[in-house]
Amino acid sequence: MGAMTKVSSDIIIIGGGIAGISAAAELARDANVIVLEAEAQLGYHATGRSAAIYIRNYGNAVLRAINAASEPTLTNPEGICDHSLLSPRGELLIASEAELPSLEAYAAGATGLDRLTGAEAARMVPILRPELISAAIYEGSAQSIDVDLMLQGYARLLKSRGGRVITKARVTDIKRTGGEWTVVAGAETYIAPTIVNAGGAWADQIAALAGAGQMQLQPMRRSAAILALGPEHDVSRWPLFGSVSETWYAKPDAGKLMVSPADQDPVAPHDAWPDDIVLAEGLDRYEQAVTVPVTRIQHSWAGLRTFAPDKSPVVGYAPDLEGFFWLAGQGGYGVQTAPALSQTAAALIAGGVQILAPDILAAIAPDRFYQTQTRS
Ligand SMILES: Cc1cc2nc3c(=O)[nH]c(=O)nc-3n(C[C@H](O)[C@H](O)[C@H](O)COP(=O)(O)OP(=O)(O)OC[C@H]3O[C@@H](n4cnc5c(N)ncnc54)[C@H](O)[C@@H]3O)c2cc1C
Repeated sequence: MGAMTKVSSDIIIIGGGIAGISAAAELARDANVIVLEAEAQLGYHATGRSAAIYIRNYGNAVLRAINAASEPTLTNPEGICDHSLLSPRGELLIASEAELPSLEAYAAGATGLDRLTGAEAARMVPILRPELISAAIYEGSAQSIDVDLMLQGYARLLKSRGGRVITKARVTDIKRTGGEWTVVAGAETYIAPTIVNAGGAWADQIAALAGAGQMQLQPMRRSAAILALGPEHDVSRWPLFGSVSETWYAKPDAGKLMVSPADQDPVAPHDAWPDDIVLAEGLDRYEQAVTVPVTRIQHSWAGLRTFAPDKSPVVGYAPDLEGFFWLAGQGGYGVQTAPALSQTAAALIAGGVQILAPDILAAIAPDRFYQTQTRS
């Protein structure tokens, strides 16, 4: 009487954001998978707060390779959704005279960019001030992602493969005994030989519970606000546009504009909200670049983008703990990289064809930081 039940599976995934749910769906093809999510709904934290854009050239060289490896699944998400998760948008990056080195840094190694004059940029987004633009680049292949459809599609695929999602299940204790992990969440205990740490901003805390090393992950707050423009502005065909040095950006969103200060303030993991001053300063930077004053903020929010020190994701088994797999540090790229990283995680855990090249796998392996730690 009253004895706690123990739920057994092959793999426990901690975290029900896009990382955990996509990896769970991939792994459920061959294994019995349980996802434990602290919140009442999936995608409540970073995943539900993103700008929902796929940008092939966003991020360092490692990310650019992972972005490209994700594109086939985003375009043809077989089993996840019956049509593409992407829709045309484009990205326009503008540079002042002082930002020209940032523009060249972005263009280096990038593919599919067109160079534009200030006048051409302002023809694309008529509220831009051409006199402030020294040069611009346009990435026509950047596309909007239907993030909710993607998350729910992966969740459906997971369930159709027999996987389970348990919400309101905050993991509070993780122990390894007799070749198995025992994970406590709420009143339940879960047992499996393998756990996947897809805890987003909380991934280092989850590792600490398990006694694994730390990845020096840093959550960074990023805010956004929805602004209504007057009826004379049809934003529907505008690309995402912003400064090439990432000091603000704006994206059409259901007839309005989502504007972000592109803030990246280091914070502890928490349920994020925008800092009023940071938001006001960012909206001011946007306002200086356009001809329309900021008057109507309809809604604002913030989320956490969580980075490893070298800004590349952390994907692979912990070198110091058997059966502890990292799927973290997706930074500002976690939605667009989820297809490739979930397939990579499944191949590393369950075997199968690896889609990333060996040098990219090495660049995201957790041991790159453990080595740093032992040398110091
Ligand atoms: C403003 C903003 C704009 C962005 N724009 C883009 C974009 O355009 N394109 C793009 O690709 N990416 C973008 N990103 C980044 C992207 O949102 C993230 O990289 C991605 O959502 C990370 O997914 P995740 O599953 O790792 O994290 P999360 O979605 O945060 O999921 C982690 C989950 O783990 C759960 N968890 C934590 N601790 C525990 C525990 N102890 N027990 C159980 N569960 C736990 C949390 O509740 C959470 O649900 C943006 C982010 C922000 C904030």
